[in-house]
Amino acid sequence: MKIKVVESVLKANDAVARENRRRFEAAGVLAVNLMSAPGSGKTALLERTLAGLGPDVRSAVVVGDLQTTRDAERLQNTAQQVVQINTGTGCHLTATQVAEALESLELAGLHYLFIENVGNMVCPAGFDLGEHVRVALLSTPEGDDKVAKYPTLFLCADVILLTKTDLVAVLDYRRERVYEDISRINPRAPVMELSCRTGEGVDRWLSWLKDERRRRTREVTTG
Ligand code: MG
Repeated sequence: MKIKVVESVLKANDAVARENRRRFEAAGVLAVNLMSAPGSGKTALLERTLAGLGPDVRSAVVVGDLQTTRDAERLQNTAQQVVQINTGTGCHLTATQVAEALESLELAGLHYLFIENVGNMVCPAGFDLGEHVRVALLSTPEGDDKVAKYPTLFLCADVILLTKTDLVAVLDYRRERVYEDISRINPRAPVMELSCRTGEGVDRWLSWLKDERRRRTREVTTG
């Protein structure tokens, strides 16, 4: 009985996710779901990304957190539109919460919608939000063993970002261990190292993102 309940919740979520995706595609918007543990640098990545995409690129951000509007406040000057979702005790965003956020957003004319998921290495991966791409972040201070210990997040990622690489010099961090685990768990996702503090590696991420948008929204927009 319990399993049936879980299945029905996921089925209902998937139906709403499909409708979200249809809306993004109709508007020519690339939807990007950012997932990681708390403190991996999702908001910092968004600050860098929005600045790096430049003033001609129009982006909106949906931010999920249990409490506070702090991330939305950080992003309000760089994104065209920002909506904060407070999940209370919820450890992940759902497609319905994103659909509700879309009521406050104008999708027409946007290039990107970034969804900063609730900081959690397990639960967000189970819920399709209607995104086109899933980005998994892992920061160097979290340790080089986390891909193997929390494979769920990395298994479903379209790209894996190893963040805060400027700290590698002061940490006991073995890169090769991370790459080995990723190659075993998800060999299809490109892996990129970057530091939002120094800007190192950010250009490669931006190029990848622009390519994804061109590739996935080709039919509906030329922008
Ligand atoms: Mg954040």
